[in-house]
This record gives sequence, C-alpha cells and structure tokens, in this order.
Amino acid sequence: MPEDTPLLMIPGPIELSPAVSAAMAGRTRGHLEPAFVSCFGKALKMMREVWLAGPDAQPFVVAGSGTLAMEITAQNLIDEGDAVVVVETGYFSERMAEILRRRGAQVSMVHAEAGDAPTTDQLRTMLATQPHPVAVFATHVDTSTGVRVDAKAIAQIANEYGAMVVLDGVCAVGGEALEMQAWGVDVALTASQKAIGLPPGLALLVASKRALARRAALQRSPSLALDFAAWQPIMQAYEAGTTSYFATPATNLVVALEVGLGELLAESNSAATAMALRLREHERAASAVRKGLSCYGLAFVPRSPELMANTLTACYLPEGIGPELVAGIAKHGVVVAGGLHPAIRTRSFRIGHMGHSSRTPQHLLRCVEAVGLALKGLGKEVDQVSASRAVLSELD
Ligand SMILES: *Cc1c(COP(=O)(O)O)cnc(C)c1O
Repeated sequence: MPEDTPLLMIPGPIELSPAVSAAMAGRTRGHLEPAFVSCFGKALKMMREVWLAGPDAQPFVVAGSGTLAMEITAQNLIDEGDAVVVVETGYFSERMAEILRRRGAQVSMVHAEAGDAPTTDQLRTMLATQPHPVAVFATHVDTSTGVRVDAKAIAQIANEYGAMVVLDGVCAVGGEALEMQAWGVDVALTASQKAIGLPPGLALLVASKRALARRAALQRSPSLALDFAAWQPIMQAYEAGTTSYFATPATNLVVALEVGLGELLAESNSAATAMALRLREHERAASAVRKGLSCYGLAFVPRSPELMANTLTACYLPEGIGPELVAGIAKHGVVVAGGLHPAIRTRSFRIGHMGHSSRTPQHLLRCVEAVGLALKGLGKEVDQVSASRAVLSELD
C-alpha cells in the first residue's frame, strides 16, 4: 500500500486482506455458473462453522446492509402484537427497537446509560413481567459505545423464559466469542464489512430451527424480498450444488465471502479452535490499541474493562479538544470515526480494530501514532514513544 493511501480504522468498513481484495477484483461470475454455485455452497457451509451453529441451522446471504439483516430478522420472527424485549446498549439497539415497533411488536427496553449494559437481573425482571415474551434482542457489540454484552448469559436467561434470542452481531461475528448452538441463539446476524472482512454489501444471518419454525407459524407474511421462505430454497439449492433463482445474488461479494470465511477458519481443522484463535487475535489487538491510547491519557466509553469490545474502542475526547480531532487524525493518514451515540456524539470518537487490521501490527501502530500526532497538533502533550512501545509490547 503506498504511504499516502489512507488507512481505514473505523468500525466498518475495514481494510481488506490481500486475498479478499484479489477475490473482489476478479471477473463478475454469472449466478448460475457451476464454479460460482460451488463457491456459494462452500460459503454457506463455512458460515455454520464461523457461527458455531448446529447442522439444522440455516445460513442466509442476501445483498444488503447490516440494517437489512436486522429487518429480515424482525420480519420473519415477529407478528403484530408480539411482546419483545430489547437490551439497550446504544444507537443500534434503539434502531432494532424501531424496526420491531414498525413490525407491530410491543417493545420493552431494558435500559442502560451510554457506556453501560443492563444487568442480567434487570433482564430477568423485565422478562418476568411479560405474559409471553416472544424474543429477546441484544446488540452483541454496540458500535456507538464499544460496549459488549454478555451474550451467553442473555441467551441463557431468554431461553429460561421460552423466548427466542436474537444477536445483532454486526460488529461482533468473527471478532467476539459466538457459539450459536451451545448458547441457544436463534438468529445471529451481521454484515460483510465488519469483522467478516469484506467490502460492504452483504447481509448475513444464521437462523436456528426454532426461528425457521417461527416464520412458518406467522400470521402475517414478511415482505417477499425479505422472506426466509423465499430465500431458504435458494440457499439449500446452492449448498446442494444445484442452481436456483429468486433474486440475483451479489456474485462478486459471494466469491469474496468464500475467501474471507476461509481465512477466518484457516488456522485449524476444528472450527471451534480456529474461531478461538481469531478471538485471541482480536483481544490482543484491542488490548494493544487501548494500552497505546492510555499513554495519551485517553478515557474509554465502556464503564468497566469487561464491557470493552474486542472489535472497536470508543474513547472520550480529552479536555479542551473537540470532534476536530478526527480530521486531525485523518491528516496523519488514518481514518477513524466520530461519535455516534446521541448522548456522547460530540464528546467521543471511535477506532475499529477488526478483521485484517487485528492481525496487522503495522495498522494498529500507525493508528495509535496518528492519534498521538493529532493530539500534539491540537496542543496536547503526549508521550509518543511510550505509546508506540505499549502497542508493540502487547503484540509480541
Ligand atoms: C454497523 C452496524 C449496524 C448497521 O450495519 P449497516 O451495514 O450500516 O446497515 C447494525 N448494528 C451494529 C451493531 C453495527 O455495528
């Protein structure tokens, strides 16, 4: 990469690995070509592995954004009047709640302030007051605060109350622990441009057998283009090595998906081991970035270390420095993101460290250095040497 090419360190889209980049640059495949059919089939099988989902779970790959994956999930699980509980951690849980309300659900929010997550007791209390809670929705990592919830505990509690469990894993799948089958998760959804490591353009989700049964029992059908029932035969056909058509898949992205998922799983024949290694890589990257930023005296938005995500870091802006810091960092060649959560939008900024960058020490170092240079440019005294040393020592 030439020195003057900006380095993309926002919480999605992210820098691509060379192999995914090369896959994207290939010729456009027809969606009925045998080589493409085989590629799509392999990608679907690998999704079950990356999600650690059961053999009866159904992966779906649909052209679109993470928000579309949220919409597909709501449309296929929810009927008019259903009681649902949303675990509130920030911007994206509020979006999920709005999607659910528009589908006619009665939404109860389990509240937490920006930077915090609701406790499991709060969730239990809320579920206990619902006559028939249909589902619990949680944002695995909220990209507006960098807060990660305890998805396993949430799933366990939801299951105790007979409710389905949905994880918005858009900023989590591939970078945080996920054991869809073992935890009893019904839908785990993401998008291609986050820790999966592709450009934007694919909505990805895996649905449990219970989620598929729920769709079959709905009173009110989903919109046709979002319907599990329309897409499932297509996914099954591709996995079986035959062609089928409902709506044209994003063929270039599906080709890259096979490569990207292959990279996630490459380190071991056991999916669980491979994903544990990816998790470890993200933990180290997150820790390196945070150790570095701590040397500048920056404070993090999540209120305690166990709430801090592996995939991104949200920091408060230091005293006397405003959102212009983000432009200052860009001047030093690194693109980071401003605040997103309404309560702290003008007081925070965010750095993504997932996918290819999580395993590229140079990216992490360059990013922390650019933050230091920008702080210095705005008149703050910073110890750049200690920060760089802290990053590298974490990555040794
Ligand atoms: C990025 C993100 C989304 C939205 O994805 P889009 O592709 O922008 O629609 C939803 N939820 C979370 C947690 C995200 O990080």
